Amino acid sequence: MRTGYVYHEIFGWHDTGSFVGDMPSDPGAGLQPYMNYENAETKKRIHELIVVSGLIDHLTRVPARKASEAELETTHTKEHIARIKAESATRLGGDGGDLSTPFARGGYEIAAMAAGGAIELFDAVLNGQVDNGYALIRPPGHHAVRETGMGYCIFSNLAVAINAAKKTHGSDLRVVVVDWDVHHGNGTEAIFIDDPNVLTISLHQNRLYPHETGDVDVVGVGTNINVPLPPGTGHGGYYYAFDEVVIPAIRKFNPDIVCVASGFDSSVFDPLGRMLITAEGYKTLTRKLMDVANEVCGGKLMMTHEGGYNATYAPFCGLFVLQELSGVTKLPDPFAHGNEYPGHELKAHEAAIIDEAKKLVANL
Ligand SMILES: [Zn+2]
Repeated sequence: MRTGYVYHEIFGWHDTGSFVGDMPSDPGAGLQPYMNYENAETKKRIHELIVVSGLIDHLTRVPARKASEAELETTHTKEHIARIKAESATRLGGDGGDLSTPFARGGYEIAAMAAGGAIELFDAVLNGQVDNGYALIRPPGHHAVRETGMGYCIFSNLAVAINAAKKTHGSDLRVVVVDWDVHHGNGTEAIFIDDPNVLTISLHQNRLYPHETGDVDVVGVGTNINVPLPPGTGHGGYYYAFDEVVIPAIRKFNPDIVCVASGFDSSVFDPLGRMLITAEGYKTLTRKLMDVANEVCGGKLMMTHEGGYNATYAPFCGLFVLQELSGVTKLPDPFAHGNEYPGHELKAHEAAIIDEAKKLVANL
């Protein structure tokens, strides 16, 4: 198995400043300066575990490069790109668009590298240079919409990769995006909502972020599926959602490539999400996608990194996904006790919403 891997040290240099989680510091409100939830540590530590474990020797490095403005314009407005570029050139940098997505000077170049990394991996998988792959890129992308960034995202990395590929491979390229980040993939949904050749499926904690999107009745032209799961969903609920919704939808849609917007904030130890997936759970979800990709599109499966905010645990989630993609196992999960927590069983209120989403598969 040839598994592609994108990472560049510059992704750790994207500076999100001294927030207090997702709030700007504010002494009057008691908000003592600390770290932004979205900081470099989780990503650096995923990469370093991949190196230290020795898994890196079994991966095919795919170099990242800066996406061109023309490539960014396949997905974003000229005004958004120009604003990010202009703010990036100022002494103190700027913000993606919601005043919660700060970036320091040079942030444009790093965001363009993240999008370019996604483009390169997408092409490498689609063209068969590698069988599958993971782009460990930063800043993340799945909340960014055409005209603005938001939610720590500046450009929609995966959407740029898909739209850039459509330019070279034809607009009838059929793509599935499975978003397992704990937050709704609102940006990817909005960008492809009218595109019958891109099936977007988001599994997320109901109304976590954005608060007003991600409901099951938003279907676009019939190729958008939301599975807004209740807080506390564990392996039983996620496996049921994959077996009953995600996998049948992919089989029916019959894409040329399967993509994943991969957030490890659905993990049992994440400070932002309230879900129960473990490294073992992410491994199983990866296996399920590899199996259906083998069935429908020659195994073409690529993932771009999104959220995941526990710096001690996200590395093992990433390692387990890449171990499964490459077929090489280096280390067990030292935090495997999360597999034994109560709550992993499928619960009736979880099955109810998954069964609602399941009805959408018939319309594909
Ligand atoms: Zn997230």
